[in-house]
Amino acid sequence: MLSHEQTLSLTSGWQRNTYAWLSQRAWIEIDLAALSYNVQQIVKLLSSRTQLMAVVKADAYGHGAVTVAQTVLHSGASWLGVATVPEGIELREAGIKAPILILGATHTLEQIHAIVQWKLQPTLISPKQALLFSDTLKAIDYHSHLHVHVKFDTGMSRLGPSWREAAEFVQLVQGLPNLRIASIYSHLATAENSDQTVMRQQQQRFETAIAQISAMKIEPPLLHLANSAATLTDDALHYDMVRVGLAVYGLYPDVHLCSRIDLKPVLQVKARVTQVKSIAKGSGVSYGHQFVAERELHLAVVGIGYADGVPRHLSQKIQVLIRGQRIPQIGAITMDQMMLDVSTIPDLQEGEVVTLIGQDEGEKISAEDWANQLNTISWEILCGFKHRLPRVALM
Ligand SMILES: *Cc1c(COP(=O)(O)O)cnc(C)c1O
Repeated sequence: MLSHEQTLSLTSGWQRNTYAWLSQRAWIEIDLAALSYNVQQIVKLLSSRTQLMAVVKADAYGHGAVTVAQTVLHSGASWLGVATVPEGIELREAGIKAPILILGATHTLEQIHAIVQWKLQPTLISPKQALLFSDTLKAIDYHSHLHVHVKFDTGMSRLGPSWREAAEFVQLVQGLPNLRIASIYSHLATAENSDQTVMRQQQQRFETAIAQISAMKIEPPLLHLANSAATLTDDALHYDMVRVGLAVYGLYPDVHLCSRIDLKPVLQVKARVTQVKSIAKGSGVSYGHQFVAERELHLAVVGIGYADGVPRHLSQKIQVLIRGQRIPQIGAITMDQMMLDVSTIPDLQEGEVVTLIGQDEGEKISAEDWANQLNTISWEILCGFKHRLPRVALM
């Protein structure tokens, strides 16, 4: 029932939730051509020395990890970044062979065994954890070297030892049998700000630690520091690899970074009109009657709600697109449904498609618009869409 001539294929969300698709009430469209375009644009910013790691954690920011991973690898990315071991296994089970870095912490024996079995690459963040990896590999008679990535903290105050202890930590890992350092990295806390003070301090600390590591005659492996924002800000932050999430999905970390590169949003959220009717002047709409009709009005019910990932706090704050027109949402957004004032489209039919995020003729609504309404960031909006919305890939 999709009104597209494009070839359709269903991404991982579909496999997880076959029956959800049958209801055809609401879905997410993934534009693989836009995804591929974004990767190519990002690669154009990089020198030949710098590789692109596409960050596909959190089910590729809600886009469907397997389909996204396959597409980005065909388009110029050479590494994948995930947050957890199961996220890495999902990609391996789908037959993906590219190197996969687990950006999050891993500590348990089960996680270490799975990392070995599925050829994933862990981030090392403390001497204790590094020793556990080494001891565990020894205990299972591991005959080769597990590729590991040493992370240190330059100002995010998240994973890893302080940059002041980075060289000592690298030396310890270097001395452990069965482990081979594949990269050394850190993460930026404020790269999307137009004020670069903190980012430059982090860069300075990164450089200082790397200089100490080189002075110990440790052959410097891959170095990486940049997320999307840093990648778009300055080539000097690219090093040997950049770890890009948001920009791959076609969104800008901040408005001031829009001029550096042309990106196309990959995800669209759509739903169908399930009923159209008139309500009398004075009628209250939805739970709590936040909205009361000041005149007789034409109302449409749409089959998407907060259980699909449309935040309830957006109630009465958003518009949606129908036939290229902006239509106000009215009353409280409910778990599975929401209402619209469609008085400007008197002949609206049940079954017509409503665009919540995306483009319809000249009009456009982005995840950023929702984020601004909610005083949050577009990353959170993208990750908020639930798996009951099937992901449909358009090629
Ligand atoms: C999520 C993540 C990224 C990607 O960040 P974007 O801002 O989405 O590009 C890069 N590096 C690490 C360590 C991350 O956790």
